Order: sequence, then C-alpha cells, then structure tokens
Amino acid sequence: MNYSPDAAFKSKEEIKLMQEKKLQEALAYLYEHSPYYKELFTQARFNVKGIRTIEDLSAIPFTIKENLQQHNDAFLCVPRNKIIEYSSTSGTLGAPVTIALTENDLERLTYNEYCSFKSAGGSSGDIYQLMLTMDRQFMAGMAYYSGIRKMGAGIIRLGPGVPSLQWETILRLRPTAIIAVPSFMLKLIEYAREHRIDFNNTSVQKAICIGENIRNTDLSLNTLGKKITETWNIKLYSTYASTEMQTAFTECSECKGGHLQPELLIVELLDEMNKQVVPGQPGEVTITTLGVEGMPLLRYKTGDICVYDDSPCACGRNTLRLSPIIGRKKQMIKYKGTTLYPPALFDILNEMEEVIDFVAEVYSNEMGTDEVLLHLLPENVSEVCNIKIRANLQARLRVIPDIKYSTKEEIQKMQMPEAGRKVIKFIDMRN
Ligand SMILES: [Zn+2]
Repeated sequence: MNYSPDAAFKSKEEIKLMQEKKLQEALAYLYEHSPYYKELFTQARFNVKGIRTIEDLSAIPFTIKENLQQHNDAFLCVPRNKIIEYSSTSGTLGAPVTIALTENDLERLTYNEYCSFKSAGGSSGDIYQLMLTMDRQFMAGMAYYSGIRKMGAGIIRLGPGVPSLQWETILRLRPTAIIAVPSFMLKLIEYAREHRIDFNNTSVQKAICIGENIRNTDLSLNTLGKKITETWNIKLYSTYASTEMQTAFTECSECKGGHLQPELLIVELLDEMNKQVVPGQPGEVTITTLGVEGMPLLRYKTGDICVYDDSPCACGRNTLRLSPIIGRKKQMIKYKGTTLYPPALFDILNEMEEVIDFVAEVYSNEMGTDEVLLHLLPENVSEVCNIKIRANLQARLRVIPDIKYSTKEEIQKMQMPEAGRKVIKFIDMRN
C-alpha cells in the first residue's frame, strides 16, 4: 500500500494533485470492475477519462443510500472469494447495507485509523480501553483495534456498558485513553461518584468520542461535552466516520474539527442545489473513496449536514476540517415554522437537570406536517418539575412539543430494541 502519513502536511496544491491522480485511478477502476458504475457511466454516455480534476467531479451523477440498498451486490468490484470482512451499516435510517472489504481494504482501514489516532495525540505508549463492540459487523470497532495495533499501543477490548467492570479494569490495567460514546461517559462519572472512585486521579487522560457530538457547530463544547469535562478532567477528541466511507475524520490536538485524510477520500459539501458551499455554510457531506477495492463509492451522499473550514490548522495539517454533524438531512424536522435537527434538540434536553433521560419521536400529522413527541424520564414526577421542563423548552425552542412522561424501564426499552447496537434517542415515524 502506497500511503504516507505526511500527506496531510503537504501544501494544498500538492494535496489536490495527489487526490486527482488517485481520483483518475479510482474512476478507471470503477469503469472496469464495478457493475453498478459501469452501467451508470454507460447509460449516461459518460467518458470517465474526461474527468481529471476535482472540479470535473461535478459532472458525475450522485450515489445515494437507496442505490446501495437496492443494488448492494452490484457495487461489489471483486469476486466473493476476495472478500475478507462483511461489515454493515447500523440501519439507523432504513435497511442495513453490506460493505464488503478485501484484504487491501482492511489494510487501508487500518492505515486510516492509525492516522486518526496519531492525529488525536496517540502514540505507542498509550493503552486504549475500547468501550464499544467488536461484533455485529461493526466496522469501527475493528478499525480502532487494527489502527491501535499498528501504532503499537495497547488495547483493552472491554466492550460497551457495565460501568463497574469498566472502572475495575481502568484501576487494574491503567489505560491512558478510552474510546467511548460520550453519554456513556456520563454514566461512568455517575457510577464513579456513587462508588467513591477518585476518577480524576486515574491513568485515563483522554477520550476518543464516537457516535454523539461533544461540540456545537462553532466547535465550542456542547452540553454533553461540558457536562463531561466540568467534572472529569479529561481531553475529548471527536471523530466522525461511516461504514460507507471506510474513513474517519478525527480531531487533532487543536480540536478545531475533524481532519480529512486526503489519500483516502475526496469530500464535497453540497447545498440543496448540489452546489459546493463555502466554508462555514451547511452542506451535505458527499464523498468519493480513494484506494478502495471491494466497494468503492463515487460522489456518495451521506445525508450528514456539516460545515467545513479549509484554513490551515495550527497542527500543521493543510487538510479540510469538518464540524460535528449538525444533523442528518432526512432527520430535519420542520416544526411549527422552525427547522430543527435532532442533535440541537438533544442538546437542549441534555442540559436540563429535570430530564434524566429521553427519546424524541417525530411523526406526520393529518396535515402531513411534522409533530414532535418527547418521551421524558423526569427527575421527579411533580407539577413543579413539569412546569420547569415546559418553560425551558418554550425558552429554547420557542415552541413546546408534546410531552409524555415515562418510566426508566419504558425509556430503556425504546432506546435499546432487541439486537440493536446503538442507543436510540430519535424515533422517526414519518413516511
Ligand atoms: Zn489540526
């Protein structure tokens, strides 16, 4: 594999030329090996050799999740006996998609995560406690494992949940870092407090945060990020990735957005009219994989809305940085005249002391417009608590969604349906 960890530190011009060379290779490869893209190029009477620059990409039709769902096998570019790993998307939105990886793809994935951890201050002296699953076709768990291994650092594969076991292991094996879902870190703090564990004096110095935002769009810590760091003296690094792109955007020590890995991915951020947005403007993250052998993707619309910054970073990297996900395009809620994305709603709920836990449900009413129902576990069942919650929602959202107070068991049942691998906080019942 021909990768160089220095790639991100090259000048913007050098990075662009390198990406364009890899893009041409990717296009030639797709034309030759991908049944899906070959058909697409042929139908559109499209000459891939005409695409030479990143600007030329705009001539190519998009790939969307539904294409992958409906024609999953046609995206495969290798015979089945070359596939090593069958990963799958979590199916948060619709049917899961299989992403098959070859041995080369696994090496690419390893390199990707190696660079990610390096970017997030990792070294061979670190020991990472993995608080997430390695199973259930979950690509990230496997990626973390192999990236850490390549870095020469230590790994403790503890898996998700069970705060008592997490702490017992931290105290016994002295990891320097944890990889966890941020809201689980709050549970760790809660457990440590209840059991008088001196959590600010353990070996853990940093956390790689996955699955949930810890920052606002302006990169300041959000409620969840603040709640963690106000009590636990720990450095948080955010990372954004998806199974389809087989690549992570991870923060460096500056914590000013997740860096693009230019050898592995081309990223476009597109507005509603499919035009590239300018820095600071929200756009849909649209990716083209580079160097993928099993299931490469071309102009794949992720559905994630982010903003980007392409100014040079103090860490020395000259690559674009992505903000946390503002929201998913499909999860955009048009509610009583306001546009709302679930993460912003979650942030408000996370901040309220009167709300212990929650699930937000969105459905269409008879008029075909969006309605929001919040299932809340209140601090206590009282009118005082109810009034505080409503007043807070009114102040922050300007409207009060329907509220249904639920028990801890009811909330947990909604959050963790059988065979689920992620905690569900958002239920979308719209058609
Ligand atoms: Zn940086």
